[in-house]
Amino acid sequence: MKKLQLNLVLLAMICSTLLSFKCQSSKNSSTTASNEILSSTKSEKNKLNNMDTTKIVKTDEEWKKILTDEEYNVLREAGTERPFTGKYTDVKADGNYYCKACGNLLFTSETKYHSGCGWPAFYDNAGNSAVEMRSDNSYGMQRIEVLCKKCGSHLGHIFEDGPKDKTGLRYCINSISLDFKEDSTKVK
Ligand code: FE
Repeated sequence: MKKLQLNLVLLAMICSTLLSFKCQSSKNSSTTASNEILSSTKSEKNKLNNMDTTKIVKTDEEWKKILTDEEYNVLREAGTERPFTGKYTDVKADGNYYCKACGNLLFTSETKYHSGCGWPAFYDNAGNSAVEMRSDNSYGMQRIEVLCKKCGSHLGHIFEDGPKDKTGLRYCINSISLDFKEDSTKVK
């Protein structure tokens, strides 16, 4: 009986060691992937004539004066609108998507695609002055947050399950963070 107990203890120790090794290795690969996204977006070539890098700084009170409560919650407090409720999720029209808070050009309709995730999805941003990324470890998840590069407002998150024949990235963006301006003359 004692031998059986000893074997069980040994088995438990081996399982525990294997599990901790697996967790560590998966954490490392996830961190490497995140770092690749963060560094690749920094070295992107400019894609559109969007070179204005002037930062927009306002106090919370100033933002509250120009944003609705719902917009403020998402843009300035990193909230998330409920999936399949945003007004741009299924929009396919040609045009540009600007920051709802400051008007910065963020995305174009050329890179918008149907991901089925419930929020507007883009496989690329509109150029060097559009967005910036930072690590987000909130809610027990390791994600990369997407922010407006000019005003620092929260837009959404970026994931690596985008179209493989494009960038492989999915910018998952809240509709309420965007302001769409249709341009039917835009050439695809
Ligand atoms: Fe902005």
